[in-house]
Amino acid sequence: MRFNTRLLHDGQPADPLTGAVNTPVYLTSTFRQAAPNRHQGFVYGRTGNPTRAVLETALARLEGGATGLAFSSGLGALATLLESVPSGQRIVAVDDVYGGTWRLFEHHRRQFGLRVDYVDMTDLGKLESALATPADMVYLESPTNPLLKLVDIRRAIRLARRAGATVTVDNTFATPALQNPLELGADIVLHSTTKYLGGHSDIIGGALVLRRPKDGERFAWLQNAVGAVPSPFDCFLVLRGIHTLGVRMRAHGESARAVADALEGHRRVRRVLYPGLRSHPQYALARRQMRGFGGMVSVELHGGKRAALRFLKALRIFTLAESLGGVESLVDHPATMTHASVPKAEREAHGVTDGLLRLSCGIEDPDDLADDVRQALRGI
Ligand SMILES: *Cc1c(COP(=O)(O)O)cnc(C)c1O
Repeated sequence: MRFNTRLLHDGQPADPLTGAVNTPVYLTSTFRQAAPNRHQGFVYGRTGNPTRAVLETALARLEGGATGLAFSSGLGALATLLESVPSGQRIVAVDDVYGGTWRLFEHHRRQFGLRVDYVDMTDLGKLESALATPADMVYLESPTNPLLKLVDIRRAIRLARRAGATVTVDNTFATPALQNPLELGADIVLHSTTKYLGGHSDIIGGALVLRRPKDGERFAWLQNAVGAVPSPFDCFLVLRGIHTLGVRMRAHGESARAVADALEGHRRVRRVLYPGLRSHPQYALARRQMRGFGGMVSVELHGGKRAALRFLKALRIFTLAESLGGVESLVDHPATMTHASVPKAEREAHGVTDGLLRLSCGIEDPDDLADDVRQALRGI
């Protein structure tokens, strides 16, 4: 089956009990046992739930892994992942990580002696140098948030393997519709299902997908031990989101293209960051590595924070809000919102300046979105 068919059918049979076409929401915290430890596969809702089980199988199939595990948030998934890293180990992370990821890494560094080094992985020479010192895990996002930098995942994995490090890829921005890191050799994929997989800005959720069955068992144990699990209803909503992932990602891509074209070359605009633009430093890699360019566009305006705030205020369709990946268009000012937890000097050194805005292009009419950014640029 091809991807768009699998979104609806792979690992999602009709309910075996009733034939319900949609996976029922099993709102129960516990399950009857015929005798002690004699049960039908489910014991207690933290350990497992039938609605969650269908979602977890679907996630594993879509990413091409052995095991999918659902969590109560993307950071819940990351916190559980970090529980598997003994103190004193070393992670080499991409420098432009999600702000909350950075915050949790820093917490583990101070609290538990985790060693973390941040590397600009657009230059794989820098990754190679960083891996000259022993490392246990390479952690990367591609495209990154909010600068939309791409990492050559296949080559990064090769370098990590040679150094004896495992590889985790946060695939939130691309989604399995556009790239499958496990098929390129990554060990673990992480998702904030809050974003494109849920797709409707109505839940908070996360996921880990493990390539190897052995890791699957280890992380299922940790999922139950830590307990950052999603509600059955949230699992249902993510499943419903997954059904339309293919058509949504295509529409998000068309919107982002229209918005990027409207911004590029405008006199108020310093630079537009979109992997689908020829001007993007890794345009060739994006074409090779991804099956589309995604729905995220970042733009740096001339005039710093003042210009950015005026532009925000003038937008009519894009809503000012954190988060991304929903059907409606959102705009974010990373410096004061999603990335405010990263100190200013560190932020600016990486290129997250006060004039930078991140646009999550929704599935509205692309021409309306392009018109909206054009009129807002006039309003600066
Ligand atoms: C939002 C996000 C996260 C964190 O996920 P939550 O669901 O908000 O906890 C992690 N990585 C990326 C790339 C994100 O965009």
